[in-house]
Amino acid sequence: MKLARVGPPGAERPAVHIGGRWHDLSGRWEDLDARSLTCETLDDLRAAVEAGSIDAPIEPERFGPPVAGIGKIVCVGLNYRDHAAETGSPIPAEPILFMKAADTVVGAHDTVLVPRGSTKTDWEVELAVVIGERAAYLPSAHAAAAVIAGYTISHDVSERAFQLERGGQWDKGKNAATFNPLGPWLVTADEVGDPQRLGMRLWVNGILMQDGNTGNMIFPVGELVAYVSQFMTLYPGDVINTGTPAGVALGRPGAPFLRPGDVVVVEIDGLGRQRQVVGAA
Ligand code: ZN
Repeated sequence: MKLARVGPPGAERPAVHIGGRWHDLSGRWEDLDARSLTCETLDDLRAAVEAGSIDAPIEPERFGPPVAGIGKIVCVGLNYRDHAAETGSPIPAEPILFMKAADTVVGAHDTVLVPRGSTKTDWEVELAVVIGERAAYLPSAHAAAAVIAGYTISHDVSERAFQLERGGQWDKGKNAATFNPLGPWLVTADEVGDPQRLGMRLWVNGILMQDGNTGNMIFPVGELVAYVSQFMTLYPGDVINTGTPAGVALGRPGAPFLRPGDVVVVEIDGLGRQRQVVGAA
């Protein structure tokens, strides 16, 4: 199933895609959030879809973030060999984790703002995992599959000077307003199948900058979810950004960082496509 939140910012309604159209779910769910992302609730919806009992077609004018009330966003750094190489970093022996605040999240086609004082705002296409069940101390990558509600596209926008040149951890460069476009929709785990065979691409002003595949992750999705759960409890509605492949501005000759007016298109096979116009904070 494809699930989305459609409507103006702050007033989105949950929706499901059936037979080529979006259908309003607001009579059924208050929102697409921790309560609706559990296996049981998704199974109930799947049964209703299969029974043909959902018939409330709508024309979405905007896709908001596909998850409401995100508790936390856990990000994985340097999870693709080619990206580690382009940044001059060693291949990590264990996943590198950092956090991104949930208030950085915007819709897939919303404006991304270059922060004040920024000279190095950069792009990162990533596969995002959306958690559907509480998870602590998962015993294996296999066990992780049962806690994943689905997947969506995450654009982990990053300010490299703030991240790498201003001291401390990476947080300064990862948490500016609008720095995490998410969506346009969530695809449930059953429909995605194997998450390690998805092509991922990102263009800036029509030029292909990133052209990777989730099959090249150093630590695959199941391992990552199990690993994260050893250090913190995951809850329904939490998101894991699983890292970006090569091709970011930081690793390119001439370092072509984002400027107001640039247009970024982000795509992952089976998960749709984002498009953001860059503005100034
Ligand atoms: Zn990232």
